[in-house]
Amino acid sequence: MLYIVLVLVLAALGLLVSALITASSLWAWVSIGLSVLAGLILVVDWLRRRRRSAAPPAPEAPAAPADSPPEPESPAEEEQTTLIPASGDLGDPADTPEPAPADASAETETTSDSEPGVEETPDEDVAVLADLDDEVVVVDEYPRYHLRTCPWLGPRDTIPIGVGEARQLGFTPCDRCRPDATLVAAHR
Ligand SMILES: [Zn+2]
Repeated sequence: MLYIVLVLVLAALGLLVSALITASSLWAWVSIGLSVLAGLILVVDWLRRRRRSAAPPAPEAPAAPADSPPEPESPAEEEQTTLIPASGDLGDPADTPEPAPADASAETETTSDSEPGVEETPDEDVAVLADLDDEVVVVDEYPRYHLRTCPWLGPRDTIPIGVGEARQLGFTPCDRCRPDATLVAAHR
């Protein structure tokens, strides 16, 4: 269709030139007629395309909403379920005071008995303990320090540490194995 318009416009241009050369108004009128014809063809063509582009979406529209909504939702849900546990893991392990080597050891026991109580240590013993570097052990993510022989430790992975350093880091003595009383007694 556009080729016809192009030919008509070129013909009209040629006629216009010949009208100017020959000074004949006939060619000019024919040229104007061809131009108007080309314009009409363009308008008709535009109207046809407009009907075509307007018509197809109508039958497709009712079918699309029924199928499309579930598709975009399901991928979004999958992304959320993978993201939530990842962010949860990052937030948790900040509650208890931990020594530096805590990161290296894996968590092995989560089902055993609860943390023992805190041994009460007299102030004069605390002063003695601060200068001692006798070895006690701690367990990752638990705030107590113990003697190696403590029955609570069981199969847990223990981290050896000096008793003075353990107290500096905020660990407290276990009231089952009573490391403070034992170490102070051994020191005296
Ligand atoms: Zn203990």
